[in-house]
Amino acid sequence: MSKRKRILSGIQPSGTIHIGNYFGAIENWVRLMKEYDCFFTIVDLHAITVSYEPSLMQQRIFEAALDNMAAGLDPARCTIFVQSHVPEHTELCWLLNCVTPMGELGRMTQFKEKSERERENVTAGLLNYPILQAADILVYKADAVPVGEDQAQHLEFTREVARRFNGRFGDYFPEPATLIGRGARVMGIDGAAKMSKSLGNHIGVAEDPDAIWEKLRPAKTDEARKRRTDPGDPERCNIFSYHRLVTPEGALQEIVNGCTGATIGCIDCKKVFFNHLRRVLDPIRERRLELERTPELVWSSLREGARKARAIARETLDGTKKLMGLL
Ligand code: ATP
Ligand code: MG
Repeated sequence: MSKRKRILSGIQPSGTIHIGNYFGAIENWVRLMKEYDCFFTIVDLHAITVSYEPSLMQQRIFEAALDNMAAGLDPARCTIFVQSHVPEHTELCWLLNCVTPMGELGRMTQFKEKSERERENVTAGLLNYPILQAADILVYKADAVPVGEDQAQHLEFTREVARRFNGRFGDYFPEPATLIGRGARVMGIDGAAKMSKSLGNHIGVAEDPDAIWEKLRPAKTDEARKRRTDPGDPERCNIFSYHRLVTPEGALQEIVNGCTGATIGCIDCKKVFFNHLRRVLDPIRERRLELERTPELVWSSLREGARKARAIARETLDGTKKLMGLL
């Protein structure tokens, strides 16, 4: 029997999981579970690289697990765990720290954006984030990593770390491929920046439908379309970029015709999107409510996931240490 290829991906318990996370990454994870040996991790150690509230962390981890499991990650068919429960990630991170020149770290887009946002709290952890991410991936010798477009640069960096290690100590780590989801870069509800847990511009996957509609109703569309009788340009409308994620081909064409021909108003167009979005999110919210009733089952799946992950991570780490002369 041929060995299944391995996938790893992660999500931070840094706030509400949103439709950017879903269409950029999670939807792909669920699909890939069928053909790959999958590892999904809730990366709490990444979430502490910026300001956070310690008393909320366990709840956030639990909610991230709920959202992901409700979205279709089945602990019986993949390994889902909390990053800090597998200390081999941080151990490998240190080893990789010592083979990585620091110059490149300051040039990473995510570092630049996040350090700009919080100038008074730029930690060494935030700078080293990509090395920990490389360790998350390489510790399982993952073949591929499904992520949104914002993480493509970090994955290129991971491949460089692997190449550098292999060049110095011998061929050991595979260079993981990047798999970008269908919603590669979902914009925030304000259309100004990528949707992010930390920016408050999100539509949550488990958010109450009324609350979602309250955000959608006033949301920006094509700004050049001032009156309902003006023709609009779907390509300049953030809501149309959302339509592409959920609205079937025929209905999408009707939206294009209605918008360019000024026969549909923005509110009606948003209603069509809202209804299609609900087809995706309603079942997730319902499954989440069920899972929420048995928190112990969720935590025990995470513990079991960490146990399985650790066995593999330990083996990789021992091999790494041998190559580096530490064993
Ligand atoms: P934070 O603001 O704390 O960084 P985030 O919303 O960016 O949170 P992450 O946990 O950093 O979420 O990322 C989880 C996964 O979701 C990654 O694969 C990332 O590429 C993807 N992702 C995040 N935001 C988007 C987005 N707006 N569009 C598409 N994919 C996204
Ligand atoms: Mg992010």
